[in-house]
Amino acid sequence: MSVQSRLPPPFTEEHEQLREAIRRFVDTELAPRAREWEDDRWFPNDVFARLAELGWLGLKYPEEYGGEGGDYVHDAVFTEELSRCGSGGLAAGIGAHIGIATPPIWKFGTEDQKQRFLAPAIRGEKIAALGISEPDAGSDVAGIRTHAKRVDGGYVVNGAKTFITNGVRADFVVTAVKTTDEGGHHGISFLVVEKGMDGYSVSRKLEKMGWHASDTGELAFADVFVPEENLLGEENKGFYLIMANFQWERLLMSLGAVGAMQRLLETTIEYATERRAFGRPIAGHQVIRHKITDMAVKLERGRAVTYNALRLFANGHDALREVTAAKLITQRDCFEVADEAVQIHGGAGYMKEYDVERAARDARLGPIGGGTDEIMREILAKQLGL
Ligand SMILES: Cc1cc2nc3c(=O)[nH]c(=O)nc-3n(C[C@H](O)[C@H](O)[C@H](O)COP(=O)(O)OP(=O)(O)OC[C@H]3O[C@@H](n4cnc5c(N)ncnc54)[C@H](O)[C@@H]3O)c2cc1C
Repeated sequence: MSVQSRLPPPFTEEHEQLREAIRRFVDTELAPRAREWEDDRWFPNDVFARLAELGWLGLKYPEEYGGEGGDYVHDAVFTEELSRCGSGGLAAGIGAHIGIATPPIWKFGTEDQKQRFLAPAIRGEKIAALGISEPDAGSDVAGIRTHAKRVDGGYVVNGAKTFITNGVRADFVVTAVKTTDEGGHHGISFLVVEKGMDGYSVSRKLEKMGWHASDTGELAFADVFVPEENLLGEENKGFYLIMANFQWERLLMSLGAVGAMQRLLETTIEYATERRAFGRPIAGHQVIRHKITDMAVKLERGRAVTYNALRLFANGHDALREVTAAKLITQRDCFEVADEAVQIHGGAGYMKEYDVERAARDARLGPIGGGTDEIMREILAKQLGL
């Protein structure tokens, strides 16, 4: 199936050329290794290096830090196409690095922090993670307990983080901490915690339902001294940073779901036209045709709401409602599309070698990660004045 060529806004001809290049690369260099990385429960760090070499870790970042000087739409194209690799885990690891952990450094960091963290991250030399969630606080972000006490020249951090993508391999973690006793909306700050700092450790690599190629870590902080030059943004203004980051994260997740649904649709059409039952290809049975049609409709609506949200976001508008709606629609739809793909593949769909079972497991994270469906509905309810 051809690359989308009708150029819906905000995509330009240049974005589409990038799309073609990324798709070729993903299809030839990443997709063939998805199964191996799934089995290894890890994808190698060389993937960061290779993507950096191609310039794709720094698409939206300024050239002075080694980026390509592009825009959010370039990153959006990359994210959508990357998800075609068929490994939610790989897409998550790369996405956490360029999509959620480094943007706060770009937006809120000092020049020194940009040189120490952003530039090497763009070069693929340092790997980044974002540490917000804790054993006792996920949706309720303001309820985090990890605490940073002000001391001479910096902070002493105590606490724990969990479910952190890239947490095991990360060279630095953009970490949310309480900098007042009360914490909450006016008492959270961000510190960049670096691998090798005394008292900082990865306590566990977590086993998951899907996203097997990614490492998801539980992190421990026991009297970790973090120098004040690693304070990111203003003290006690961290909640603002979290909120600013969420929109882009949710948009990226929506784009990833669109790319994944596209791939699932293509794979399923191919299978349904080849596989025969009762004397004809299974696509010749009306019920299967209709299931596939419903998958295509979910893809179409997901693409429409996501591109609309992206257009607004990329043009600097407040797109809270549109991004939230896109995240809500696409994540559940993607899981349902993957589940239907498994059904249409029959017994083969349940087997590892057909890859759709992995897609279904990977897609189940969508309605949970980056803010659950319930939280998306709460945000939308507030927008409706409820
Ligand atoms: C594979 C994976 C990777 C992740 N990567 C990262 C990462 O890199 N960095 C990071 O910081 N976090 C990460 N997370 C954490 C993720 O963002 C949280 O899991 C998510 O926000 C939900 O938080 P929770 O798990 O604590 O669930 P909880 O907040 O405990 O929620 C449990 C249930 O209660 C519901 N609920 C909670 N509050 C309300 C409410 N007000 N109204 C209605 N229902 C409600 C939720 O919707 C959910 O169904 C990751 C999680 C996973 C599973």
